[in-house]
Amino acid sequence: MSPLTESTVLDQLKSVKFPGYSRDIVSFGLVKEIKLAADSISVRLAIATNNPAVPDTIKRDAEKALRDLAGISSVHVAIDISNPPDTAKGTGGAAVTGIAGVRHVIAIASGKGGVGKSTVAANLAAAFQQRGLRTGLCDCDIYGPSIALMFGATHEQPMANSDNTIIPIERYGIKMMSMGSLLDDASPAILRGPMVTRATQQFLRQVDWAGLDFLVLDLPPGTGDIQLTIVQTVALSGAVIVTTPQEVALIDARKASAMFAKVNVPVLGLVENMSYFVSPGDGQRYDIFGSGGGRREATRLRVPLLGEIPLDMATREAGDRGMPVVLENPQGPVSTKFLSIADTLREAVANAK
Ligand code: ADP
Repeated sequence: MSPLTESTVLDQLKSVKFPGYSRDIVSFGLVKEIKLAADSISVRLAIATNNPAVPDTIKRDAEKALRDLAGISSVHVAIDISNPPDTAKGTGGAAVTGIAGVRHVIAIASGKGGVGKSTVAANLAAAFQQRGLRTGLCDCDIYGPSIALMFGATHEQPMANSDNTIIPIERYGIKMMSMGSLLDDASPAILRGPMVTRATQQFLRQVDWAGLDFLVLDLPPGTGDIQLTIVQTVALSGAVIVTTPQEVALIDARKASAMFAKVNVPVLGLVENMSYFVSPGDGQRYDIFGSGGGRREATRLRVPLLGEIPLDMATREAGDRGMPVVLENPQGPVSTKFLSIADTLREAVANAK
């Protein structure tokens, strides 16, 4: 019999699913420590939840799985339980629930502003739509709403029906909504803490998104009140983190990733944007913001690097013209990359649920 190793124990723990998900506790990053002795195993897990049934179920399933290992006579599973961050201040302990009629909600996040998060969100939504999936795109970035611009929809206002449900506008077959459009002229700068939390919750629940395969949320950059409210109250299929190869962006990407880990939302991968520039004149490649940062960070976070999107004039121009490049030129080199990222995401969420 081969000696017991940490990796055998981890493999065994991969059979334990997080309650309500088909994803396992190892891929959620819950295993914090493994100690091995001759015939005993002790494991420490960390879980952020308000539901006491969750750690109980995980403990029972993990102990059972480990006892199945040959030659083990003693198994001990300890669980550190913490509250999801900011529940007292933010959501009053509201439960995490799905959005009615939506199969998968994917959040697009970044630590730092200006890295191209909205460009990635817009093009991924467009890519899902191009693949024949019913898609919605929600701009939650009230501090710099640019989705409406990228879809040429700045003058369109959503309508409400008789029971005060908001009907999203539709552009190029994609249902769209911008939180900014519901905030009247209140300056985002004065919207803080509980007010933002209330507005976010109301917004997400009052819009009629029913009938979608994918809802893409363009989160504000960083880890503020809006992001926390969303990750704590909406059942997300996962998050995608956008970064540039620059160290300053990577540091912030790490913080964004930690926010999702705390509430057990899987980070489906990293998209490195503005990865390089290919000169149209001589085809020479320039690594304007450095190179390899996204790949290194993805390895560090143990998440896939979903794609490297170049700094590309056509992408910027299409967005400025009001039609994401994936819709304007689906066969173009950058569009192909977005379509391939969308395919990977689709596969990842299908396997996880
Ligand atoms: P964020 O949402 O992170 O603030 P945006 O998506 O609004 O970033 O992008 C910031 C600016 O950079 C926009 O003008 C956008 O057109 C441009 N941009 C983003 N990604 C690219 C890219 N890959 N190539 C060229 N321009 C880009």
